[in-house]
Amino acid sequence: MRAHKMNGGKVIPACRQAGVRVLYRPHEIYMCPVCLSSQLNPRHHGYYRCTRCGSYYAVTLPDAKIRQKETEESAKSVITSQRQELIARDYTDRLAAITKWTTKLRHMLDFGCGSGLFLKFLIKKGYDARGYDKSTTLTKYLQLRKLPMYADLSAIPARYFDVVTTFDVIEHTIDPHAFIRDVKSKLKKNGILMITTPNAQGVTARILGGRWWVFGPTAHFVLFTPESLKQLLIHEGCKVLEVTTDTITPWFFPTDAPVQRALNKIVYLATKPFHAVLFRYSLGDNMQVIAESYDVAHLKTGVNCRVLNPFG
Ligand SMILES: [Zn+2]
Repeated sequence: MRAHKMNGGKVIPACRQAGVRVLYRPHEIYMCPVCLSSQLNPRHHGYYRCTRCGSYYAVTLPDAKIRQKETEESAKSVITSQRQELIARDYTDRLAAITKWTTKLRHMLDFGCGSGLFLKFLIKKGYDARGYDKSTTLTKYLQLRKLPMYADLSAIPARYFDVVTTFDVIEHTIDPHAFIRDVKSKLKKNGILMITTPNAQGVTARILGGRWWVFGPTAHFVLFTPESLKQLLIHEGCKVLEVTTDTITPWFFPTDAPVQRALNKIVYLATKPFHAVLFRYSLGDNMQVIAESYDVAHLKTGVNCRVLNPFG
């Protein structure tokens, strides 16, 4: 391993907040964590772009200790986030999307529940909803507020939930195969999984490229296209029911900055007449996937990402 080459603690925007310091160690990545292709891929704004599946994956990664530290730092910002109203509106739409595919909503798990907004939303609606987050800061914060939280992954009962949601989490994982397996292990047979993540093939990614905040050292280690996420889910034994994209938000600046809100509003209004067409061609900036879990561990045989993964 080469000597540490930090980025100097540059302040960068991270999911839904600003001011998170991310320090990277130069672990060289030689394999696409989605399709496991090891061919040499072109660099693109600090990522490799897999020429086989179209995913982007970070050229360098922080080690596990730094990742956890970063998770806890992000958690503090998530707690103070002021975007609750906007998110609550999204949640109504997301719940409606789930109920299109299943009437079984008895037990629900929000995996990577952040500040617990969706969890609270579900409980208010009368569902038996539980939460899990990798951040101990957030877990303690929500437990203090009497929300049903699992302290760690192993405490979550296997094959128990009718629905598992995981919003804007998978892009922060370094082994998306292992992540889907973990999530899926908590689902009942034929349970429903809903994932949201940025769309690396959306209109903003295509126009802004590396200037879109999603690229760069934002703790986003893997960015999917609709097709690559679909293939990942199929590989891990899920039937993909629906892939949709929405939202046009060229986030140049931290999300909560007034200038960012104003810019988002302007772009939203300017692009509104074209939304239907853009979303029909999967060009929205946010991607939402609904899948059903099969009772089969892996539909395809193949190499195990966790074994070969150099950063696992
Ligand atoms: Zn790939």
